Amino acid sequence: MGKQLTNRGKEVDRSPMTFLESIYLWNIIKGMGITISHLFKKKATINYPEQKRSFSKVFRGLHVLNRDAEGRENCTACGLCAVACPAEAITMEAAERLPGEEHLYREEKYAAKYEINMLRCIFCGLCEEACPKDAIYLSETFAPANYSRKGFIYKKEDLVIPHPIHEKEAYEKARGGRVEINKKD
Ligand code: SF4
Ligand code: SF4
Repeated sequence: MGKQLTNRGKEVDRSPMTFLESIYLWNIIKGMGITISHLFKKKATINYPEQKRSFSKVFRGLHVLNRDAEGRENCTACGLCAVACPAEAITMEAAERLPGEEHLYREEKYAAKYEINMLRCIFCGLCEEACPKDAIYLSETFAPANYSRKGFIYKKEDLVIPHPIHEKEAYEKARGGRVEINKKD
């Protein structure tokens, strides 16, 4: 064997095959042995969707637009999340809160339209980091599969968390453990 750069090279055995080697029987038995030994090992896979793995506490899934304890939308359409987004996945349109809408929107300005393109999103969480209003966070669920591209454009109505007073159960479910983790104030 010539000079080697590493010690990983192996010299090839070029001696003629024995009868047993020439019928490949031994190698077949060896291969079957490996296959059978895997039958008794713990499976690395699970039967999804019947079985689901629990996510890590820092898992970043689908976005949720948050409400305060009175059910008012937190988002003030400042656009910081869109600016922070490296994938340019977020778009929004701002509107001014009208008299009588104080129970709907916490701030004087709110997002009349808010969209996230989940095909662009890389779930980095920078939008969540950038938000000064605790208005957006990444939940413990993920975007379900869809046959059309349009199905991955999540609109405001898909993103806003259920009302904490009127839809208490759905609100708690959507909230998971995330709000406590991300709460900045
Ligand atoms: S998670 Fe990252 S890529 Fe996705 S919308 Fe937020 S900032 Fe953009
Ligand atoms: S989600 Fe937060 S950062 Fe984005 S527009 Fe609303 S308030 Fe601003």
